[in-house]
Amino acid sequence: MMNQLKIFNSLTGEKEIFKPLHENNVGMYVCGPTVYSNVHLGNVRTFMSFDFVYRTLKFLGYKVRYVRNITDAGHLTDDGDVNNDRFVKQSRLEKLEPMEIVQKYTVDFHKVLQIFNLLPPTIEPTATGHILEQIQLTEKLLADGFAYESNGSVYFDVLEYNKRGLNYGELSRRNIEELFANTRDLDGQGEKRNPQDFALWKKASPAHIMRWASPWGDGFPGWHLECTVMSTKYLGNQFDIHGGGMDLKFPHHECEIAQGKAGHGESPVRYWMHANMLTMNGQRMSKSTGNYILPMQLISGENTFFEKPFAPAVIRFCFMQAHYRSVLDISNEAMLAAEKGFNRLMEAVKTLNEMSTDLEHPGPLSYEIDQWKQKCYDALLDDFNSPILIAHLFEMVKWINSDEKISVGELRELKDLMNAFVYDVLGLQNEQQTSNSNDKLDGVLQLLINMRMEARANRDWALSDKIRDELLALGIQLKDGKEGTSYTVS
Ligand code: AMP
Ligand code: ZN
Repeated sequence: MMNQLKIFNSLTGEKEIFKPLHENNVGMYVCGPTVYSNVHLGNVRTFMSFDFVYRTLKFLGYKVRYVRNITDAGHLTDDGDVNNDRFVKQSRLEKLEPMEIVQKYTVDFHKVLQIFNLLPPTIEPTATGHILEQIQLTEKLLADGFAYESNGSVYFDVLEYNKRGLNYGELSRRNIEELFANTRDLDGQGEKRNPQDFALWKKASPAHIMRWASPWGDGFPGWHLECTVMSTKYLGNQFDIHGGGMDLKFPHHECEIAQGKAGHGESPVRYWMHANMLTMNGQRMSKSTGNYILPMQLISGENTFFEKPFAPAVIRFCFMQAHYRSVLDISNEAMLAAEKGFNRLMEAVKTLNEMSTDLEHPGPLSYEIDQWKQKCYDALLDDFNSPILIAHLFEMVKWINSDEKISVGELRELKDLMNAFVYDVLGLQNEQQTSNSNDKLDGVLQLLINMRMEARANRDWALSDKIRDELLALGIQLKDGKEGTSYTVS
C-alpha cells in the first residue's frame, strides 16, 4: 500500500498531506540564482535539495512542470541606491557589459549544476525577458490602490495591504506593527511612505545602464516582482510548490505572497518549502564573510580547507545524507566519511548488478524485499527524507555483501529498485559509467587516428586534414610524435 506524500509547509509550520491542484500534475517554482558571480557550494546545496524534490516527484509518478528562473536584473544589495545594483557593480569591476556578466555567470551556473547531475528545469525564464509582464502587474497594483508612485519609482504599500485584512508577515511570522515601530524613525525621509514598503519598479538614474522604458520613466523591476510574474505566468495564479533557501523567506517570499494576493486575489502558493543552509567548519557559507568555497575548488582540490579533491558524486552523496531542512556542515572529516560511504554503496550496487539472474536461487527473503521497498518509499513520502532512504539502502548493502540467496524474480526487482533509488532519485552518478564513457571516447579516437594514418599512407591529405581539423574544432588536439599520434582534450 502506497502511503501519501507529506510535505512540510513553511506557511503553516506543519507536515501536510500533499494534494496537487490538478491530479497527478505538480507545478513547482524555485528561485534561481542572481547571475552576477560564480555560484558557491552553499547555493549548490539549495538547488540540489530541489533537484531531489523534483526527482522524487517524478519517481512517484507526477508530471512536474518545474520553473526555475534566472535573476538577470534588479536584485539590489539593498532596496535603495542604484550603486548597489549587483550587475552594474560587477560589470565595472570586470570591465564588461552587464549583459556579459549575466551571460558569463549563467553559463557557469549551468556548467556547475550539470557537473553535480542536476536535472534542468522544464522552464527557465529570465527577469529581463518578462519586463512587460512586470510593468503590467505594477500598473494593476497601482490601479487597485496597493501601490503608489514616488519620484519615478513604484512601491508596494504594505500598510494599505494590511488595512484590507491581508496579512503581511504571515510566512515569516513577523508582527507588522512591531516592524513599523522599530524602523519608522530610521527611514522616514526617503521616497517610501513606510520603510517596510518594497519596490515594484525602481527609477534608473541617468548613469544606470540596465534600464527599460515604463509609464513611470526609465527604470528596472524589483526583485520580488520578478518571481511573482514568472511563477504565475507559467504555473497559474495559484500553484503547488514554491521553493528557495531559508534566507529568502523574508522579505523575498513574504513580498511574493503579498503581490500575489493583492494582484491576483489569491495566495499564490499552496506548499512553501525552504531548504536549510550549508555551513563550512560551523560557519554559514557566504560570499560576504569569505567563508565559502567554489564547487570547482572542492572538486579540483585547489583550496585551503580540504586535504584532498572530492568527486562531484561524493559531494552530492554528502549533501543527500542530510535532510533538506537540516543545516549541513561540511568539513574535511565529513567529506572523508562521505567518500567512504559513497564507495561502499557504489561497490555494492556494482556487485548487485553483476549477480547473475540466469540461475534460480530460491531463498527466504521474499517478504523482506516488499517491506524494504515500502520503507524506502516511506522515507521519500515523509517530506523527502533522503538520509533515511540512504540508511535503508545501506541495509541492503549489508545483504548484498552476505551470502544469502534470493529468487531470480526478487533479484531482478532488487536491481531495479536499487538502481532507481541510487541513480534516478538520489542522482548519484556512476563513476563507473563515466570511466566507461571515457574508455569509449578513447576507442573512438584511436579509430579516427588509425583512419587518419591510413589516409596519409594513401596520400589522401584532404581526409587526413579534415579529421585533424574537425577534431580540433571539438576541442581535441592530435599531436604527431615519434611514438605515434596522441591527443589532448580541452
Ligand atoms: P542568490 O543567487 O544569492 O539569490 O542565491 C541562490 C540560492 O542559494 C538562494 O535560494 C539562497 O537561499 C541559497 N543560498 C545562499 N547561501 C546559502 C548557503 N550557505 N546554504 C544553502 N543555500 C544558500
Ligand atoms: Zn524568487
